[in-house]
Amino acid sequence: MILIKNVRTTDWRRAESEPRDLLVSDGKIAKIADTISREDAKIINGKGLIALPGIIDVHVHLREPGYAYKETVETGTRAAAAGGVTTVCAMPNLSPCPDSILHYETVVSFQKGAPIRVIQSCAVNENLKEGRSDWEALSNHGARVFTNDGWPIGRCSDMAAILNHSRKSGCVVAEHAEVMGMNEESDRAEEILVARDLMLNERIGGRLHIQHISTAESTSWLKESKIKNIGYTAETCPHYFIPPEKGLPQGYYEVYPPLRGSEDLRAILWALSSGLITVIASDHAPHTYEEKTVEKPARGLTGVELLFPLCYDFFVNRLKMRLERLLNYLVCAPARLLGLDPVCFEVGKNADIALFDPAAVWTIEESTLHSKGKNTAFLGKQMKGKIVATIASGNLVYPFEEDE
Ligand SMILES: [Zn+2]
Repeated sequence: MILIKNVRTTDWRRAESEPRDLLVSDGKIAKIADTISREDAKIINGKGLIALPGIIDVHVHLREPGYAYKETVETGTRAAAAGGVTTVCAMPNLSPCPDSILHYETVVSFQKGAPIRVIQSCAVNENLKEGRSDWEALSNHGARVFTNDGWPIGRCSDMAAILNHSRKSGCVVAEHAEVMGMNEESDRAEEILVARDLMLNERIGGRLHIQHISTAESTSWLKESKIKNIGYTAETCPHYFIPPEKGLPQGYYEVYPPLRGSEDLRAILWALSSGLITVIASDHAPHTYEEKTVEKPARGLTGVELLFPLCYDFFVNRLKMRLERLLNYLVCAPARLLGLDPVCFEVGKNADIALFDPAAVWTIEESTLHSKGKNTAFLGKQMKGKIVATIASGNLVYPFEEDE
């Protein structure tokens, strides 16, 4: 049992409340009142803090099994907890690749004991590129997200078939929209697949989710689709609308899709504000220092623990967006995408809660990151606002026991 005293609350429904007490019991929000006293509860002093629903990051690479030298489930989920994230959707570019029930079970076995909820996506194609996985069997086994992330769903026939499957089964098809082997800057490698997928889904009506949208031209395809009422959801990542820090090793700017110019950044912000893009995710992709500093660096940025602080600092501190509005992109829309009940501060809701200090000033440094990957284009960035505690399914998962 946890009792948070004197804390202001806000969620995607309501602006900040006056300070009040919040009791967590049996994994749920048990009571909210001006004053609660419970001697048997662990007390957290919430003075000066804001309680938020736990952040949901729909796009995370945990790297284990297969690439534990980059990240493990333990380090990745602890990093998430330190960033106020209580649910992640993990990508399937693992070894073994979750493309069968056997492989899926192997992957999920590594996630037992994780401090937060992990939803494991399954591969659309075997090993992300080969024949079709058995979607029917995997869906019946509980898989709710299919993606080849890291690779696109290359064949149109496969995309049409999985969209049909998603319409019938309710699963999500998440697309890494990029034609491989093309120049992403001059050849419209992203937009070609965004357009293809939207065109296919115009006829099919499946649950298409387009990952990490990064260009102005992609947003114009999203706009066309809204006008035509073609079903889709789309996400973007902080590095596609917040300018990076300067002076880092070149590899720290290398990511799929690549960092874009100011026109694209503006278009992404417009797409967020107009509701064409409704989800912000980190695309957390940890790599080692060596992999990031060789001549052809591995691509991807670390960032699950920075997702909320970066968005808060940018939207709320800088652009004066209301915090409850920001939580639509980080809690409400991601929850609905994954088929979860989005947490708000009502008795009986799941106790996924982040405690946030809006006044804390800090700098993103290697030593402040809990992930094994330190490869972020925001190293050195001055921040205002910090997660100080995280409760996932009623358990205090951050700060970590050894730090208390
Ligand atoms: Zn991707």
